[in-house]
Amino acid sequence: MSWQQKIDAALSERRSADTLRRRHAVSQGAGRWLIADGCKYLNFSSNDYLGLSQHPQVIRAWQQGAERFGVGSGGSGHVSGYTTAHQAFEEELADWLGYPRALLFISGFAANQALIAALMAKEDRIIADRLSHASLLEAASLSPAPLRRFSHNDTQHLARLLAAPCPGQQLVVTEGVFSMDGDSAPLRETDRAARAQNGWLLVDDAHGIGVVGEAGRGSCWQQQVRPDLLVVTFGKGFGVSGAAVLCSESVAAYMLQFARHLIYSTSMPPAQAQALSAALTVIRGEEGRARREKLTALIQRFRSAVSTREFTLADSQSAIQPLIVGENGRALQLADALRRQQCWATAIRPPTVPAGTARLRLTLTAAHEPQDIDQLLEVLHGAG
Ligand SMILES: *Cc1c(COP(=O)(O)O)cnc(C)c1O
Repeated sequence: MSWQQKIDAALSERRSADTLRRRHAVSQGAGRWLIADGCKYLNFSSNDYLGLSQHPQVIRAWQQGAERFGVGSGGSGHVSGYTTAHQAFEEELADWLGYPRALLFISGFAANQALIAALMAKEDRIIADRLSHASLLEAASLSPAPLRRFSHNDTQHLARLLAAPCPGQQLVVTEGVFSMDGDSAPLRETDRAARAQNGWLLVDDAHGIGVVGEAGRGSCWQQQVRPDLLVVTFGKGFGVSGAAVLCSESVAAYMLQFARHLIYSTSMPPAQAQALSAALTVIRGEEGRARREKLTALIQRFRSAVSTREFTLADSQSAIQPLIVGENGRALQLADALRRQQCWATAIRPPTVPAGTARLRLTLTAAHEPQDIDQLLEVLHGAG
C-alpha cells in the first residue's frame, strides 16, 4: 500500500462507520453562547464549568501580565522561561491543595505523558480504570511498563490485579470525575486498595478541580483522600488552559530532572500564570462559591425534568450530563436536531467511548440561566 492509499483507506473507514471527526470554526465558543457561521447558539458543549473564561478579573490579569512580561515566556523553564509569575502560582496552588509542591505544565495531556514516562520502568505495572482519559491510557501504552485495566470504578477488580506479583512498583490511575460519563471514582476505596499493596495512586481531577469539593478543591478534598500524584488541569473549571502536578518535594525534584515535557518545551506564557492566579482567587472566594451553587441548581433542574423514557441518563451529579443513545448515527442526528433549534452539543462516538455507547455529551455551566436549561429540555424532548 502506498502512503496515499494507506491514508485514504483510514479516512474512508472512519467515514463509513460514522466516526469521522470534524472541526467547526466558531467565532466564539466558551461561555453561555457559541457563535458559528453568524448564528448564535446556547452552548452546551464547553468545559468552562464556572464561566471563568469570560471573567473580567481573569481577562485583566492576562492583559496586565502580557504588558509586564510580554506574550511569551521565551523558553523552557530550565532556561529562562520560569518567571516569578509561574513561581507564585505554583506556590498558591500547592498551598491551596495541601501539597509540598506544584509543577506547571502546558496541558493536562503533557502532564500525564510526562509523569508516566518519567516514573514507569519495565518491571513496574500501571493499573488504570478502563475509562481513563486518552492522555493517561496512551501514556501508559507507550511506557515500557505493562498496562492492566480494571472495570470502571470496580475496586475489587483493582485489588485482584494489584495482588498479582509485580517485580517493580505499581501505579494506580483513575480520575476524579470521568470526562465522558460525569460520574465520580470511589477514591477512598481506590486509595485503600493501592496502599494495601504499597502502590502509588495518581488521580487526574481535570473535571473536578475548581468545581466540586470544599471551596472548589476538587474530588480528592471532597472524598478526603490525598493521592501521591494529583493532576489538575486549567482548561475546564479554571476557564484558561494548562495543568499542574501536585506532589512531594522529592517527586518534584525528580520531575525537574527527568520530565522531558518540562525540559524540552517552552513554558506557558507568564501572563497565563497570572490569569490562573486570578482564576484561583475567584474560585476560592465568595464568588466561586456562588457560581458552584448556581451550577448545582442548574444540574438539578436538568436532571429532574429530562425525559428518561426517551434517553438513558448517565449516573452523574456533575456538570457533565451525557445522554447515551447507542448508535453513532443517532447521536449525530440528535446533535443536528439540537443545532437547528439553536442549541449546541457534541455527539461523542467511539473510539472516544466504548462501541455502542455513542452519546450526546451535554455540559452545563454557571454561565447558563435557568431558562437556558428549560429551552434545552424543550428542544431535546421535541427531537427525541
Ligand atoms: C481534558 C482532560 C485532559 C487533558 O487536559 P488538557 O489540558 O486539555 O490537555 C486530561 N485528563 C482528563 C481527565 C481530561 O478530561
